[in-house]
Amino acid sequence: MLIEENKPLAPFTTFGIGGPARWFIETASEEEIAEAAAWAGEHRVALFVLGGGSNLLVSDAGFNGLVLRVALRGITAADAPGTLSEQETANRRTYQVAAGEDWDGFVERTVQDNCAGVECLAGIPGTVGGTPVQNVGAYGQEVASAIERVRAFDLLEHKAREFDVSECGFAYRHSRFNSEDRGRYIVTRVDYRLTFGGAPTLRYADLLRAFAVGEQPSLAEVAAQVRRVRQTKGMLIVEGDPDCRSAGSFFKNPVVDEEQLRQIAAASDNAPPRFPAGPGKENLGRVKVPAAWLIEQAGFAKGYRLGSAAISTRDTLALVNLGENDGRGGASSEEILALASQITAAVKKRFGIQLEMEPVMMGF
Ligand SMILES: Cc1cc2nc3c(=O)[nH]c(=O)nc-3n(C[C@H](O)[C@H](O)[C@H](O)COP(=O)(O)OP(=O)(O)OC[C@H]3O[C@@H](n4cnc5c(N)ncnc54)[C@H](O)[C@@H]3O)c2cc1C
Repeated sequence: MLIEENKPLAPFTTFGIGGPARWFIETASEEEIAEAAAWAGEHRVALFVLGGGSNLLVSDAGFNGLVLRVALRGITAADAPGTLSEQETANRRTYQVAAGEDWDGFVERTVQDNCAGVECLAGIPGTVGGTPVQNVGAYGQEVASAIERVRAFDLLEHKAREFDVSECGFAYRHSRFNSEDRGRYIVTRVDYRLTFGGAPTLRYADLLRAFAVGEQPSLAEVAAQVRRVRQTKGMLIVEGDPDCRSAGSFFKNPVVDEEQLRQIAAASDNAPPRFPAGPGKENLGRVKVPAAWLIEQAGFAKGYRLGSAAISTRDTLALVNLGENDGRGGASSEEILALASQITAAVKKRFGIQLEMEPVMMGF
């Protein structure tokens, strides 16, 4: 077991921000995870699970514990005849994907295999193991509707456990892994159940616009369009593009009730845009309001800067580290948080809505 000391964490994050990990280990199997977890227990140090670092803000002081990077690899696929309903004839294919696999690489594989279910989630950075944690979603799809099972190492019981999708507690940017069981499980494998020969999901205007009425684009064409749209918004990691030195959306879209919606409308000159809050009893009578709209209405524009932290020039929802371009060596986590609190305070003051941050904070 190779445990490194004082390992800089910034290179392991898409923000490119953060101090060192006191201890750091890469784990390529469940056995190595078990060993590393036992080591952290024996030495009574905190343990943090790192995937692709694309949804993280690491503190400038770093992390005073063991950072365990998940590096398990491998994808296996198995076909089964459709069983969901009598009409369903399409075959189902289950992919068992090790948690350390690159998510976008996996999406590309499924699209090339002509399997539908995650094509709209193309271009999202990070690992497969990170996807169930916040129920990754974009352009009309969420992983919750394609996941069959999640396998994880239980740090409390020191053994592997499997969760059926119904046990994962999925909702908008939510699962048991980032709420009541936060920090308890290390995801080691995710089973995705996709539809061989299925049609792509085409719900979002940004996608529909790219195809002629009546056209039936392939899964690969839809995934390629998703990547194009993401790139125009700085939401695709492209080497040298300063707008993608971020953690994606920094704020969640608030889900509001009718009273809050009235409150927002009363404080604004324009009617607030809104879209369905999603399924679930808790969302009855509620709608999602775009956080980007609230931020703009509160007086912030794309490209707004505070020191070396800024709002992306292409997407109001992304905070970016200006990096080397600012002549000061890039933003600190403190600067990112200062900008975030300026924004949340202004939105709260104008609309009475408390924006929630989406990235996970490490070492604060
Ligand atoms: C440019 C850009 C665009 C993005 N677009 C989207 C988007 O459209 N939709 C969306 O939902 N997200 C988006 N994100 C956020 C991010 O890509 C996803 O949340 C991603 O799934 C995070 O995975 P990761 O492996 O990088 O996790 P990390 O950032 O390494 O970790 C995030 C959290 O997950 C936990 N975690 C990671 N792996 C495991 C594991 N194996 N077991 C247990 N816990 C684990 C960590 O402990 C941490 O709490 C975007 C990010 C960027 C930078």
